Amino acid sequence: MKPNLKTVLAATFIALCAGALAPASAQTDWPDKPVTLVVPFAAGGPTDLVARLIAVPMGKSLGQTVLVENTVGAGGTIAGARVAKAAPNGYTILLHHLGMSTAPALYKKLAFDPLKDFEYIGQVVDVPMTLLARKDFPANNFKELEAYVRANKDKVSLANAGLGAVSHLCGLLFMSQIGVDLNTIPYKGTGPAMNDLLGGQVDLLCDQTTTTVPMIKDGRVKVYGVTTLKRLSALPNVPTLDEQGMKGFEVKVWHGLYAPKGTPRPVLEKINAALRAALQDPMVKQRMTDLSSDVVPLDKVTPAALKTHLEAEIARWGPIIQKAGIYAD
Ligand code: ASP
Repeated sequence: MKPNLKTVLAATFIALCAGALAPASAQTDWPDKPVTLVVPFAAGGPTDLVARLIAVPMGKSLGQTVLVENTVGAGGTIAGARVAKAAPNGYTILLHHLGMSTAPALYKKLAFDPLKDFEYIGQVVDVPMTLLARKDFPANNFKELEAYVRANKDKVSLANAGLGAVSHLCGLLFMSQIGVDLNTIPYKGTGPAMNDLLGGQVDLLCDQTTTTVPMIKDGRVKVYGVTTLKRLSALPNVPTLDEQGMKGFEVKVWHGLYAPKGTPRPVLEKINAALRAALQDPMVKQRMTDLSSDVVPLDKVTPAALKTHLEAEIARWGPIIQKAGIYAD
């Protein structure tokens, strides 16, 4: 039987109403189950620490648990691919750092496009790095480190969290400035790399202050310098690498929060509001300050600020990486 015009119009009207209502109700109910916050590196490392610190207050604002999940490997790119391909419903989001901007130049076959596959939620925190050695490493200061590394380059090992990790980038800048190539050992995050540094299985590691400040203060590792142009308030006696001759050595690890492309705007707004509240939480602020890290001002906790920063950082690191000739197939 052929449907008449009235039946077709009625069916269309019902379908339109259902279509209009479904996303709206889904968005006002969101979140009605836990949200997964994907971290690209191992538990116990600095990125994991930032994620766990914001997950609790974000969960409070959202009225649902924010579960941190470590999706490790390939310098953070496996996590990037996971979230790029996740359902765009706000239940899977990504915390990543500066590595999001180096991956396109480092990986010839990157399974995601940082500029096309994500919605941007906001910047989070800026974290300096420190250049460290195992406690019993022979060099006692930066001058001695330079001399020792040059004379013993075949037996010195440098740990990192894989190609694309900031520990990799920092190590690379260090090696290129002193003109040596060390034996680099990749880990799934600097959490496990730090365990091996503490255990004496590797010699050197560059890592964020979010995990290194307590180790330095307790004398469990040797420190040679910080990667900012100014000394850090939490480590006032530790010179910058810049002031010790590595002119312009500056790595500040910025972080961003991302969702899969196509996540509905109202959901993104809720995640952004929860992030903003978390970054204003006095406990989060204090903990970050104690670890010499800066929670970004609220005007950076916006989708536009994160996107603009990411674009600028891709443009900044791309040529440096290309010049260094480092990439993964
Ligand atoms: N610090 C790490 C990096 O080098 C990652 C981590 O484990 O958080 O990128």
